[in-house]
Amino acid sequence: MTTGFLFDELYLWHDTGSAASWAPPGPYVQPEIHVENPETKRRLKNLLEVSGLAEHLTTIKPRPATEAEVLRFHTPEYLEKIKRLSAAGGGEAGRETPFGAGGYEIALLAAGGVIAAVDAVLDGTVDNIYALVRPPGHHAEAGEGIGFCIFGNVAIAALHARAMRGIERIATVDWDVHFGNGTQSAFYGDPGVLTISIHQETPTGRRDETGEGAGVGFNINVPLPAGSGDGVYQAVIERVVAPALRRYQPELIIIPNGLDASMYDPLGRMMVSSEAYRAMTESVMALADELCGGRLVVAHEGGYSSSYVPYCGLAIIEQLSGVRTPVVDPFLEIGETGNIRHHIYPHQEAAIAAAAEIAAVVPTG
Ligand code: ZN
Repeated sequence: MTTGFLFDELYLWHDTGSAASWAPPGPYVQPEIHVENPETKRRLKNLLEVSGLAEHLTTIKPRPATEAEVLRFHTPEYLEKIKRLSAAGGGEAGRETPFGAGGYEIALLAAGGVIAAVDAVLDGTVDNIYALVRPPGHHAEAGEGIGFCIFGNVAIAALHARAMRGIERIATVDWDVHFGNGTQSAFYGDPGVLTISIHQETPTGRRDETGEGAGVGFNINVPLPAGSGDGVYQAVIERVVAPALRRYQPELIIIPNGLDASMYDPLGRMMVSSEAYRAMTESVMALADELCGGRLVVAHEGGYSSSYVPYCGLAIIEQLSGVRTPVVDPFLEIGETGNIRHHIYPHQEAAIAAAAEIAAVVPTG
């Protein structure tokens, strides 16, 4: 088993500036560091080194996405806007997506990083890969940056695989705690990508959004009640993701991997532990083995607990590589969260069952 790891120091130089969490500083709003800052990713990278896991991974270098690659998803006007603002010292990509000088080049490197990760798996250079990219991408839409995301990294990489690598069927399994609106929008009318988003329920990302035109049936939203934990998430993988993927028969699986469903995330209200991230990865790897020769790309998205993200990310990469380090998640046995994490309450069961009905009618491939 060869597992790739893709990273670049420049990802940590993407500058989101100051904020109160993500609210812009202003009268009565004292500035502090923006919640989407380099620390979670830096600490994950550092834990990979200190644990010794990094030695077992194959380094894959990112490259910048070309303008033509970005334009497979984004509008020319939006690309020009980001380029112009970046050269002028930074700005706002759309909604709640600030960036500093040089942010355009770093965003290109993030999108190109996921492209390089996809290519490494399709070339057989590695069996699977973790792309620790930043800024994240799954909220970005064609003409607007949203929710800390400038370019749709996974959408752009999937479009690359379709256009340049002869891949016709890709599945994305997005378990970021927030709705993967950008990836959904990229493929809403397109049967060539089955988009699945598992997220904390909000007014957007509803279950009845299943696609349009030729894409009907190829979009699955799994909104879950706040407070869902390990038991609920694992049940969603088994009862929604697995049957949907078996019906769809993807040639490649990409996980937009948000670690903000974790039990210590300041933005999410879920109860997922590092062990659940490990178990979900194991399940999707088994599906990849069964359906597409193990081809699996994990692309980093959100995750805002600088204390806990490293342990969740480490568990995923240990599972991808089959290497178990001596690291024990120090938070796993703290507190009284165990039963809550594992339990499935009736209102959570209802949400899983409703999503399973949608998965059961994904058009077969
Ligand atoms: Zn998120």
